[in-house]
Amino acid sequence: MSAVLAFSCCIFAGAAKDDTPVIIVPGFIETVMGIDIDQKNEEQLWPFTARTLLGKIIADSPTLMVRLAGLAFGRFDKFGTRIGQDAEEILYKLTCNPDGSSDYGIESFSQDPERCSAGYLANYKNGKYLAMADFVKDVAAKTDPNRTFVFCYNSQLDSLALASQLRSFIKAVKDCTGSETVRLCSHSYGGQIIAAYFYRYPDDSDVAKAVMIYPALAGTDAIKHILEADADVPLDDILVYAENLLRSPAKFEKLLKERHFRYLSDFASFGLAEVADMWRYWSSMYALCSNEYYELLKEEFLDPVESAPIIEANDLIHYDMTPKLGSIFAACQAKGVDLAIVSGCGIKECLGGDDNTDVLLPTKLATGAFCSKFGEHFSDGYVAKGTACSDPAHNHVSPAMDIDASTAFLPDNTWFAQRAFHGGYSVQDYTMTLIEKLLLTDELKDVYSDPAFPQFGYSDNVNMGIHFCFDESPAGYLSSDDHAIVIKNLDKVAPVKVLSVTASDLDLEFDAVKSTVILPGKTVTIPYSGELPAVKAKRIDVTVKYVAGASVNTLTRGFTLNNSVKSAD
Ligand SMILES: [Zn+2]
Repeated sequence: MSAVLAFSCCIFAGAAKDDTPVIIVPGFIETVMGIDIDQKNEEQLWPFTARTLLGKIIADSPTLMVRLAGLAFGRFDKFGTRIGQDAEEILYKLTCNPDGSSDYGIESFSQDPERCSAGYLANYKNGKYLAMADFVKDVAAKTDPNRTFVFCYNSQLDSLALASQLRSFIKAVKDCTGSETVRLCSHSYGGQIIAAYFYRYPDDSDVAKAVMIYPALAGTDAIKHILEADADVPLDDILVYAENLLRSPAKFEKLLKERHFRYLSDFASFGLAEVADMWRYWSSMYALCSNEYYELLKEEFLDPVESAPIIEANDLIHYDMTPKLGSIFAACQAKGVDLAIVSGCGIKECLGGDDNTDVLLPTKLATGAFCSKFGEHFSDGYVAKGTACSDPAHNHVSPAMDIDASTAFLPDNTWFAQRAFHGGYSVQDYTMTLIEKLLLTDELKDVYSDPAFPQFGYSDNVNMGIHFCFDESPAGYLSSDDHAIVIKNLDKVAPVKVLSVTASDLDLEFDAVKSTVILPGKTVTIPYSGELPAVKAKRIDVTVKYVAGASVNTLTRGFTLNNSVKSAD
């Protein structure tokens, strides 16, 4: 069977469209790992999902409901400890030695391109080894399943070790397909692996293009909370994350009504303590840690002698690679490599930080852009820092005045999607369209190529409920060109009803909004009257109050009032 596939893979005749092979580099928890993978006695241990764990708990005890009932009476400490113990039974084989090695023979699926094409993986054993399945299938359908590949890897390893494996894989894919170059597309940790590849092999010229989706380029502060089993996990933020994962407001409301869910934060913190030891010696954990907490965690968890290999690789990552990300990428661009970053923003960090994030990755660490704290913004009249791009014709400040991309690793090739959450790239039309345009076409040379995909866009995450902008200015801006606000209902099933629209510090009257119903997926245009003051670069808040289902919601969004100049592009 593999011989046939290898044959079909190699005889592919070039079509008019770009047939440069695509290699998908998945994220930390997306690639399959275990013992004797693909053998008769296979033990799959990763990805570690709630479903795996729940299956274990139910198998252990048919009285799960009794436990949940106990939880409802406040005995969440027992429940949490028990969850941790169950996890430990599944995961102890994933524990590494202090030097980062493993005694259990942990491996990923094959790195042989003949077995890693999307076409092969999707059909082999019901697709169980296919990481990022929905996304990969979509890309494969638009290109060629035999020229779309997935880089399968062991998530215990740091990005430098994986960069060397990625390099071998790229060369094998080139041999198999007869192509001169490949296109790379990553999610999360995969972005850091790509960066490490460019860092380590600057003289290679095998990559034509790299699109990094929500990349963990400079890590995340969340690793500190995970390794320290930080008990301070705020429930509100977990609810936001759950809401995004469930993607359906109706399901979310149902979940909220489940009484035991209120204890989630408590058992998460108890359970985390049991699991934390599992990845103490994964070199990847330190690669994924932000520079801010790296020394602290090194001091706390790694012995300078026993863990020397982990420290050596990660010192290089934190003290040489990370500070140079901008120049590493600039050198790639100078060689003609097309680079792009798509980042989420506008969500508070799930694990308790107050950074602007995509839930897991601080936007500033994913992109290099200077960001205000979540919920705050720059002062009126803010001028971009311009450390990475100082072109006076470019505006790299977000309309909500909370992100300054002039300091970014790729100032002209980083696209931000407001309220796009870390795992949601493939379920939101906006981000999916943007990513596929970047990866599969040459239409978006930079953030100025297409007004429909500006540097600061808005995801159509249905949990946002509605999206709004003014009728003439670009999204996020307001000027005297405008005469109405345009509100879109993002829900694909239920209508919403607008109750009121207000704008802070402005004397604007919005017409007849009390009975404005917006059908699913539709927009309405609501005119307003009143004068705008003649100021520019002033941040204002616009708040829309609306009814969705049985609940009354408000959504406030930051806009830039630019009224002494014509609206900027
Ligand atoms: Zn620029």
